[in-house]
Amino acid sequence: TKTIILKNRPEGKPSTSNFEFVEQDSELTIKDGEILLKAAYVSVDPYLRGRMSDAKSYVPPFKLDEPVHSGVIAKVVASKNDNFSEGDYVSGMLNWQTQQVSNGEGLTKVDSSRAPLSAYLGILGMTGLTAYCGLTEIGKPKEGETLVVSGAAGAVGSVVGQIGKILGLRVIGIAGTDEKVELLKSKFGFDEGINYNTTENMQAAIAKAAPNGVDIYFDNVGGPISDAVLVNINQFARIIICGAISVYNSTEVPKSLSVQPFLVKNSALMQGFIVSNYAAKFPEAVKALSGWLSEDKLTYSETIVEGFDNIPQAFIDLFDGKNKGKMVVKI
Ligand code: NDP
Repeated sequence: TKTIILKNRPEGKPSTSNFEFVEQDSELTIKDGEILLKAAYVSVDPYLRGRMSDAKSYVPPFKLDEPVHSGVIAKVVASKNDNFSEGDYVSGMLNWQTQQVSNGEGLTKVDSSRAPLSAYLGILGMTGLTAYCGLTEIGKPKEGETLVVSGAAGAVGSVVGQIGKILGLRVIGIAGTDEKVELLKSKFGFDEGINYNTTENMQAAIAKAAPNGVDIYFDNVGGPISDAVLVNINQFARIIICGAISVYNSTEVPKSLSVQPFLVKNSALMQGFIVSNYAAKFPEAVKALSGWLSEDKLTYSETIVEGFDNIPQAFIDLFDGKNKGKMVVKI
């Protein structure tokens, strides 16, 4: 069994030296009520960066010298628990470990005949729920409105934009490469895409792409990109603060332009969003997302990295935009 532990807390951008691989030769055994799990797919997510630092947040930080954990799809390889049989696949928050023992608490069975296993970490998992709940609950979209999405070619962003199109919005996506911008339009049906790395005046580019102004901003990145969007908002705009990846590695308190006057004069609503606060809406979200998937109204991209040993690097690569859609590691 191999385990990845957090060896030291990243300062600035994470590196592989923050992690350590620990190998254990002895066979894992299970007691009554337990199951033995073999990891199949491991999700790497930007929010894990927050858990690697010891700053106060909505979830406690990872402890040093203990396994890192995230969303994992695992196969039940032995069971002494009536709720799980050998051969079942489960989804849950599990350790970065090739094999582990669980009492089954917090695990959900997933059906590999309904969707590819990795989809339960993305479109049918936290990613899809985040996109759906954030956009509908805080964004309150109305047909004909204009939606801007940052981090648009990523896991959450690419789903947000598509849901926006399904709900009849004009959708503009912001991403970091021309290839991603092309993907936004050709695969995900966005109306416009902007490459923030090659666009000199983001404020003007957004104004051009959104001639009627911005009614909803789904923010995954924060920083100067968001400032450029916020100066283009309309009256009663809704701003969903889902993430701020551009400042996750900052070693100083992040600074922002003074965009508050734009919120004031437009009576705009800006609200932080944490998906776990919307659990009551998950059944509705899963029903809508799987319905749209089966009707081919919704699609998704995945960047699948192979091999347990590559989990730390796959995580780090999120901060260099190496992924299109959901980044997952296949074990
Ligand atoms: P993504 O698939 O979007 O991966 C991260 C992407 O962020 C990269 O591909 C990269 O794309 C972009 N990025 C990296 N660095 C920067 C930067 N400095 N400036 C601008 N963009 C950058 O990840 P997720 O979809 O999983 O997550 C997206 C956001 O949503 C994150 O901020 C995450 O923390 C948040 N989130 C929040 C949840 C909640 O409950 N609040 C739940 C899930 C996610 P590019 O090439 O375009 O730069």
